[in-house]
Amino acid sequence: MRVYNFSAGPSMLPEPVLQRAREEMLDWHGSGMSVMEMSHRGPHFRQIAENTEALLRELLGVSDEYHCLFLQGGATGQFAAIPMNLLGDRRIMSYVLTGSWGKKAAAEAKKYGEVMIAASSEDAKFTTIPDPAAWDVDPEAVYLHYTSNETIGGVEFPFVPEVDVPLVCDMSSDILSRPVDVSRFGVIYAGAQKNMGPAGITVVIVRKDLLRPPHPATPQVFDYAKQAEAGSMLNTPPTYNWYLLGLVLEWLRDQGGVEGIEKRNIEKAGLLYGAIDASDFYYNPVDPRYRSCMNVPFTLADPSLDGLFLKEAEAEGLVNLKGHRSVGGMRASIYNVMPLEGVQALVQFMQEFERRHG
Ligand code: PLP
Repeated sequence: MRVYNFSAGPSMLPEPVLQRAREEMLDWHGSGMSVMEMSHRGPHFRQIAENTEALLRELLGVSDEYHCLFLQGGATGQFAAIPMNLLGDRRIMSYVLTGSWGKKAAAEAKKYGEVMIAASSEDAKFTTIPDPAAWDVDPEAVYLHYTSNETIGGVEFPFVPEVDVPLVCDMSSDILSRPVDVSRFGVIYAGAQKNMGPAGITVVIVRKDLLRPPHPATPQVFDYAKQAEAGSMLNTPPTYNWYLLGLVLEWLRDQGGVEGIEKRNIEKAGLLYGAIDASDFYYNPVDPRYRSCMNVPFTLADPSLDGLFLKEAEAEGLVNLKGHRSVGGMRASIYNVMPLEGVQALVQFMQEFERRHG
């Protein structure tokens, strides 16, 4: 039996994608090989890689002014790669902190220059977004970094910030969940394992004119210009993950693209927040203006019931609802692939649990 998996990542993949991967496992399109066995330099894999990039560009509307890179090292690798590739001979970077991931990104960037915190909601336990009118963006900053969706706290930007320096955005947990005007960004990056595919491949979309001579200690696999020149194949890329990423993008196109999936995402999130708000038994601490459509943290009025909640949910096929260890409680991650039925089943379970234990 397949379960509804509310994990924050790696997360659910579309069933048709898994089925197709199974069908093509031993013999991809008459090649007589699994994708896993192909040379990344051969014609078959080249076709897969090119199709994947074309789909990504189509779905997000990425122009030729940008490189699309398919790298390893996760979003965490990009925390370092970004300053290494963008700073050149300058030093100042601005960061807006709305959760733990932005904080980690800033801590890593400090190794390469001077990080100025333009705004932070840490005093509010990362439950909101500081008023953009009050952000202190250093005019000398090479870029402003923010995290469009904080996966742990469940805080998501409903707007793209208006600033005078290039925007760098960690979209790991909400990329492709809604339309986005890529031309507003200098860099968008995301690990695949939430909304795009299996763990092990990281998408970086970078405006070509922002690249500077990289920091002298930049590993060549993190050198954007070199990777772009090599078609992200400076070394052996994660070929199978790249292929699965392409299949997920095809699935997404079949769902009506990002516009189509956004409608479903809004419906799912509305249903879950609606149930939480209608109850005194469940509570979500996030400023309602900035609640995430992807990650919905909530607590039970009586935390001693947490274990029972998780156990009974699992028995109903609703798994991985445990909140992040740093915040406790529950977290339902309802990325693109989570069907409406999964959220309906969760809401029904929550209401029944409250009836029995509230
Ligand atoms: N940024 C965000 C918003 C995340 O949610 C995560 C992972 O959960 C990361 C960065 C780190 O990603 P990775 O594990 O791919 O390095």
